[in-house]
Amino acid sequence: MKINHLGIATKGIDEALKFWEEALGLKNVHTEIVQDQKVKVAMLPVGETRVELLEPISDDSPISKFLEKRGGGIHHIAIEVEDIYECLERLKQRGVQLIDEQPRRGADDCLIAFVHPHSTNGVLLELVQTKK
Ligand code: ZN
Repeated sequence: MKINHLGIATKGIDEALKFWEEALGLKNVHTEIVQDQKVKVAMLPVGETRVELLEPISDDSPISKFLEKRGGGIHHIAIEVEDIYECLERLKQRGVQLIDEQPRRGADDCLIAFVHPHSTNGVLLELVQTKK
């Protein structure tokens, strides 16, 4: 397993890129609208992992709610797994509280599923299986 990305919520990706890209020197390699989660994402590789900037595209996006409560910051950590179906089954058997019992399509055609913070010491955890 490895950390696939860190999800960071922002009110505006263009504004956020002034820090992450222009000042810090990372490169935005991919921007995409993920309709399922009502977000625009920008991906900036850092070594083997990435910073994923998340901007809501609708008031009922989960990111809008997060921004209202917290005003931005780390929204989730994404761990890459070989087989997301097997991983979800294992977690379910151990009584872990899942947000997604079945994987859904995330950015970059990955399969993703979220694990509830109740079971992870308060961290919203995303499982990612990248397309082969
Ligand atoms: Zn993510």
